[in-house]
Amino acid sequence: MESFDVIIVGGGPAGGQTARQLSKLGHKVLLTERYKSFEDNNFSSAGMTMVPLEEFQLPESVVGAYWKNLVIQCTKDEYKWESNEKKGVVLDFGRLRQFLADESISNGGQVLMGHRYVKKEVLDDGVIVDFVDASTKDTVQYKAKLVVDATGPVRKVMYDNKDDQPYMVLGSGIEYLIKVDQKTYDKYKDDLIFFLGHKWALKGYSWIFPMENRILKVGAGKVHIEAKDQDATNKTTKKLTEMVIKDYIKAENYELLDVHGGTLRYSPSIKDTFFQDNVVAVGDAVSTVNPLGGEGIRYAMQSADLASKHIDEYLKTGKNTFDKYRKTWRKRNLLKWQICEVSSKRVYTKYTDEQIENRMKFYHQNASFDEIINALFYFRFNNLLKRIFQVYKTKVEYMLSGKKF
Ligand SMILES: Cc1cc2nc3c(=O)[nH]c(=O)nc-3n(C[C@H](O)[C@H](O)[C@H](O)COP(=O)(O)OP(=O)(O)OC[C@H]3O[C@@H](n4cnc5c(N)ncnc54)[C@H](O)[C@@H]3O)c2cc1C
Repeated sequence: MESFDVIIVGGGPAGGQTARQLSKLGHKVLLTERYKSFEDNNFSSAGMTMVPLEEFQLPESVVGAYWKNLVIQCTKDEYKWESNEKKGVVLDFGRLRQFLADESISNGGQVLMGHRYVKKEVLDDGVIVDFVDASTKDTVQYKAKLVVDATGPVRKVMYDNKDDQPYMVLGSGIEYLIKVDQKTYDKYKDDLIFFLGHKWALKGYSWIFPMENRILKVGAGKVHIEAKDQDATNKTTKKLTEMVIKDYIKAENYELLDVHGGTLRYSPSIKDTFFQDNVVAVGDAVSTVNPLGGEGIRYAMQSADLASKHIDEYLKTGKNTFDKYRKTWRKRNLLKWQICEVSSKRVYTKYTDEQIENRMKFYHQNASFDEIINALFYFRFNNLLKRIFQVYKTKVEYMLSGKKF
C-alpha cells in the first residue's frame, strides 16, 4: 500500500490550496477528488474582489472576467456604484481548481481524480483511507500520517456518522451559464449585479456575473430556513434564474451552455471539529464560507494556508498544534461571521421589500463605493456605521435647532 505524509480528500479551493502549500514545503502529498474532471462540478460563481489574485498568486488564466461596477437591484429600484477601475474578478472555478492541482503536481505532489472517499481506519501510526474508483468501482487503499477533510459541505472524512455533525444552516444555489449576443453582453460585461427583495429573489439573492466575451453567469441562491411570507410561494431558485434571464436581461436567442448548482452547510458560530483522530478539516468543512454573501473561495484558501502551517509543524516535529489552528481561525473570523449570521437572517428572511429598499437607498446616498466593498467583502463595517451615525446626528441637530429636516 502506497504511503503518504498527507492525503487530502476533496479538490476544491481548500483542498487544492492545501496540496499546493504542503507539496511546496516538500511533503509527500496525495490530492483526491471524486469527480473525474473539475469541469464536472463547476458549481461556484466565483465572484470576488481583486485581493485574492495577489494573496494567493493566482494567474490571469483562472480569471473569467473583471468587474468595475456593483449593482443592487431591489424589487422597485436599482442602486449602482460605478468606477473606471477594475474592482474585482469572476474566476473560472474549474480552471482555478485545475491550476491548484497542477501546482501541486509541479511541486512533486500526486493527484487522483475520479476517486470517492468511502471510509478510514485510524491506526497508532496513521490512517488507512479507502477510495472507490468512479470508473471501475474497485476499492483502492492508501495510508497517510494525516488526512485532510476538504470535502466541503458534506464533511465526509471528519464525521463517520452524520449525526455527530453540529447543527447546520443549509443554503443552495443554481446557476445558468448562458451565451448571449454581443449587445446584451456589452450591457452587463462590467457589472456585478445582485438582486434583493421578493420580486427577483427568494430567501437569499439572485445574480448576474460576467464571464468571457458573450458569456454570463445567472443564478439564484437561498437559505433553507423559515421566512416571513415567503414559504407559501411557488418560486424556486430555478424559476427565479429563468425569470432574470427572460424578464430582466430579456435575452431572447441565448445558448444555454451549462446548468450547475451546489449547496453550502454552515454551522452557526463555527462549531465544527477542526481536528480529531489524525484528520484536519479545512474550508467549508469548517464553515469558512461567509454566511451573509456566501463568498467562500478566499476563506477556504485562507484556512488551507493556516492549516498547512500547523500540518507542516506536526510533520516536522510531531507537535500537535491543531487546537491553535482552530483558535486562530475563530479569533480572526468568529465575531465578523456572527454579525453576518444576524444580518443574513434579517435581510433574507425578515425584511419587507420596503425595508430592503430603504436601506439600499440610504447606503447609496451616504456610502462611497469603497465603503460598500469594505463592508460587503471585507466585513469592515466601521466607516459605514460612522456614516449612519453622522446622518442621524445631523438629523437630530436639525430637529433640535427647530429647523425642518
Ligand atoms: C451556487 C454557489 C455559488 C457560489 N458563489 C460564490 C462566489 O461567487 N464567490 C465565492 O467566493 N464563493 C462562492 N461560493 C462558495 C464557494 O464556492 C465555496 O465556499 C468554496 O468552493 C468552498 O471550498 P472548499 O474547497 O471548502 O469546498 P468545495 O469547493 O465544496 O470542495 C469540496 C470538494 O470535495 C469533493 N468531495 C466531496 N465528497 C468527496 C468524497 N467522498 N471523496 C472525494 N472528494 C469528495 C467535492 O467533489 C468537491 O470538489 C458559491 C457556492 C455555491 C454553492
